[in-house]
Amino acid sequence: MKYESALDLEERMREMVNLLFINHIKIDRVKCLRSYGSRCRRTIARVHTLGKAMQKGMEVGAFYTIEFLEKFDKLNKEEQDKVIIHELMHIPKTFGGGFRQHDYVCDKNVELMHERFLNLKRTDF
Ligand SMILES: [Zn+2]
Repeated sequence: MKYESALDLEERMREMVNLLFINHIKIDRVKCLRSYGSRCRRTIARVHTLGKAMQKGMEVGAFYTIEFLEKFDKLNKEEQDKVIIHELMHIPKTFGGGFRQHDYVCDKNVELMHERFLNLKRTDF
């Protein structure tokens, strides 16, 4: 596996966090990476975190990394936006190092969040 930082995706993520998740996602504690060479066929993106024990041991706060696999770049812009929103929705309100599960991060809620994003984007001036 090879990883590269994805500043362009971080920029897009920032806009989403500012419009949708500003109250709980700490923008400077979330990074985006592109990965190459994964044999996982179904996954487009995934979010990683540092568990509570590691945070304590390292004496650092929570941190999240969103990894985008090669397939991501083949999607159209709207599909990509939904993938980014999906991954951001896995980050819980506590921002503590855990995840929200797919009962909440489901297609229906991602669609709703994406609609909200488009609406806010239009009225953001
Ligand atoms: Zn997911």
